[in-house]
Amino acid sequence: MATALPPTRIQHEIDFDREGRQAGYLRAPLSRNTSGWGIVEIPIVVVKNGRGPTVLLTGGVHGDEYEGPIAVSGLAQSLQPADVQGRVILMSAVNVPAVLNNTRLSPVDNRDMNRCFPGDPKGTFSEMVAHFMDSHILPMVDVSVDLHTAGHSGDSIPSTNMHHIADPALMQRTLDAAAAFGAPYNVVFGGVDEGATFTSCVERRGKLSLGTELGGWGRVNVEGVRIGKRGCLNILKHLGVIEGTPETAQKDGSAGTRHMMVAGRDCYAFAPTGGIFEPVHLVGEEVRAGGPAGWLHFVEDVDHPPLEVRYASGGILWMSAGPGRVARGDTVAVVMSDYRAS
Ligand code: CA
Repeated sequence: MATALPPTRIQHEIDFDREGRQAGYLRAPLSRNTSGWGIVEIPIVVVKNGRGPTVLLTGGVHGDEYEGPIAVSGLAQSLQPADVQGRVILMSAVNVPAVLNNTRLSPVDNRDMNRCFPGDPKGTFSEMVAHFMDSHILPMVDVSVDLHTAGHSGDSIPSTNMHHIADPALMQRTLDAAAAFGAPYNVVFGGVDEGATFTSCVERRGKLSLGTELGGWGRVNVEGVRIGKRGCLNILKHLGVIEGTPETAQKDGSAGTRHMMVAGRDCYAFAPTGGIFEPVHLVGEEVRAGGPAGWLHFVEDVDHPPLEVRYASGGILWMSAGPGRVARGDTVAVVMSDYRAS
């Protein structure tokens, strides 16, 4: 039997070993001026039948990214135990205060939950939930798919993503899972605040971790929802949790996912100063090294010419800036190139 779980302030009635479907809430205490003993309810659905892998599907770690929550909550309502071999844990709104507030950060503690891992059971709301996800949920999980978009801060071409993983067998299994998910692109990357993210926790535990970027700009991306819904089913098919073969045909006629990488720091373009950013390209377009990524405009000044921002690296534009007004140091473009194993 597993070792005793570490103390947590989060309570629930889910029995993760029980066969069948359970729908309920994780109850996280949140003391506030209007309710000292108040709680926050985080939705969770568990569907289990017999032996098989445990797959965790999460959305709403950031509150202004809607495609994942739509896909996960839809599947949570439709998935039946008789269709499952194994266990599926579905959490459509992990950071539910942020989801209800339409913001990346949680309004109750002003934290980005995806920079709070592995969390703290006595910490702020986001730290407490992060700790529960890491220490109570992840030990049960074989495969985690955490669905994101670029949120209000940017746009992304629908894609899965993963880190470079030292273990070659797990690296290959993750590439295979990404191909099965069937987004137009899968991006291997690194170097973005690793260590504090959910993905890092999954990897530390030796589990398979896949992320997504399914759109952004704070709207619902039609194609992102389609890819997200199809991808969740595809992953379950790939792992033998539900019957069927993954459907990976792409709109451009190709049979499957194009594996890409963000090769280094010169794939990121940052705003050198604050201004209104006029981008040149949409995500998914081809860009060239040295070519213009966009112009920063200073419309509050007379006769102040725009400042050109250039790509240091060529390839396909993975992510672009979101809001028109950017601050110095904001990411305005992330460029990916075809994946090569190093
Ligand atoms: Ca995100």
